[in-house]
Amino acid sequence: MSARRKLVAGNWKMHGSRSSTDDLLALLVAGLDGLSCDVLVCPPYPYLAQAHTVLQGTGVVLGAQNLSEHVEGAFTGEVAPSMLRDVGCTHVLVGHSERRSLYGESDAIVAAKFVAAQAAGLVPVLCVGETLAEREAGLTQGVVDRQLDAVLQVAGVSAMRQAVVAYEPVWAIGTGRTASPAQAQAVHAGIRAVLAARDPEVAAGVRILYGGSVKPQGAEELFRQPDIDGGLVGGAALVAGDFLAICRVA
Ligand code: PGA
Repeated sequence: MSARRKLVAGNWKMHGSRSSTDDLLALLVAGLDGLSCDVLVCPPYPYLAQAHTVLQGTGVVLGAQNLSEHVEGAFTGEVAPSMLRDVGCTHVLVGHSERRSLYGESDAIVAAKFVAAQAAGLVPVLCVGETLAEREAGLTQGVVDRQLDAVLQVAGVSAMRQAVVAYEPVWAIGTGRTASPAQAQAVHAGIRAVLAARDPEVAAGVRILYGGSVKPQGAEELFRQPDIDGGLVGGAALVAGDFLAICRVA
């Protein structure tokens, strides 16, 4: 049994409204009793302050889905790391595959965002993962290692003490197709091995989440894998009962 406490994170993506945010959070908060995992929710930017108010004192922590790598200035449309802290965030997703593929975030930008998040006192949740074509070409571990290495080069391995990694195979995100527990475990072990080669203690402590069509069915077996320390949940995080069911098996 690992000493790492499980973490279940909800990535709401670009969904919801003020009222649905209130409704979803009320249902979540009402169902927290008896959970033994840490819980993180990542609503869209406009609802962060509202979510912070609702979540205060509940133990559920708040994260954003993205941030600017800059501190402040003439960056129209961007959100600074300090602003996220200011509205109550403790965490932030960095390098989600939708950011990488739809918004052109390179490994270098992701690394800069990771560093900027930590500089502001936020815990980055670094997302890595391969596309279907990359998996079929046998490149999975190489892609994940490259994405991880880009951050390690800039931030150093000890930065991973204050970070979370999320392995999200792109082909499993929003597709209903989950990686098998064995497929996920293999990549998680690979990620931990990359970290262990630099610092075994850091590697043993870092939480590595699995993401990609995590549903209540199947979550328990994923979370039973020795190197899977919880989940990053998209679609199922929008349904309080499903999200709580995932938290309960973590
Ligand atoms: P999904 O999304 O659970 O809907 O596949 C996961 C994610 O993109 O973080």
